[in-house]
Amino acid sequence: MVHAGMSAHDVHWLCVTHFHGDHCLGVPGVVQRIARDRVRHPVRAVYPGSGEDYWRRLRHAAAFADTSVIAEHPLSGELDGVGPLTARRLSHPVESYGYRVQEPDGRRMLPERLAAHGIRGPEVGELQRTGSVRGVTLDQCSVPKPGQSMAFVMDTRLCDAVFELASGVDLLVIESTFLAEESALAKEYGHLTAYEAGQVAAEAGVRRLVLTHFSERYGFDDEPAFTAEAHQSFTGEIITARDLMRIPVPRRQVHTPVK
Ligand SMILES: [Zn+2]
Repeated sequence: MVHAGMSAHDVHWLCVTHFHGDHCLGVPGVVQRIARDRVRHPVRAVYPGSGEDYWRRLRHAAAFADTSVIAEHPLSGELDGVGPLTARRLSHPVESYGYRVQEPDGRRMLPERLAAHGIRGPEVGELQRTGSVRGVTLDQCSVPKPGQSMAFVMDTRLCDAVFELASGVDLLVIESTFLAEESALAKEYGHLTAYEAGQVAAEAGVRRLVLTHFSERYGFDDEPAFTAEAHQSFTGEIITARDLMRIPVPRRQVHTPVK
C-alpha cells in the first residue's frame, strides 16, 4: 500500500477470494494499517465462510491496538446487492469467490441545455434531486450515463459464475495461471489458461482484459506468450498486469443528442 501510494483511508472493502496463502497473507498488514491510521468509516470484509478459522488468525495475526470499524461478512453461497458488490462461488479446490463491482447508472448534465433553460446554481441540484424545476424536466437537460463495472476473478476453472461476473464489464481482472499447452494441469489444480481468459472476455463482452497470476514455472520472458494466446480468443485490449501497476476502468461512452 505504501509503495502504491494507497492510504488506509481509501479502503472500504476487503474482498478475500479464498484462503490460499498467495491470496490472503496480505490481510494482517492491511487490517493493522486500518487500525493504526485510525480509519473511522466502516470497512466491510467479505471472505469464504468455510475459512473462518483462517480469517480469525489473519485478523489477529500480531499484537496491535485493534479497530472496531471492520464489519465481517462471511460468504456461504453467494452475496447479491450488498452495496455495489456481487460475489459468486467459483470452481477451485478450496471455497473461492469472484467479485463484481457495479456503479449505479446516473445522468450526465448538459451545460448548454441548462443555460438555455436559465437553470443555474442551486437549481441544478434541485433538478437532479426532484426531476423538474419550473416545468423543465431532468430529461431535457441531461443524458443517461451507464455506471462503470469491473470484475475480479481469481483462482477458478471455467464455470458459469465466471461468465456471469464478467458479463458486459468495462474491466476484467482475471487469473491466467497456465498456457493452453498445460490445460490438463489447469483443470486439475482449478485454474484458467490464457486462452480461456480470452474466451471469457470475448463471450462476456468485456472492454479491457487484464491478465495476472502466472504460474512460477514461467518467467518474465514468457509473458508475451500469455497475451498472444489470449488474443487468439479475444480481439479487444489486453494488459499483462505487473505489481503496482494502476489500470483505470475505461470510461463509459455517453452519447450527447444532436440539438
Ligand atoms: Zn488458489
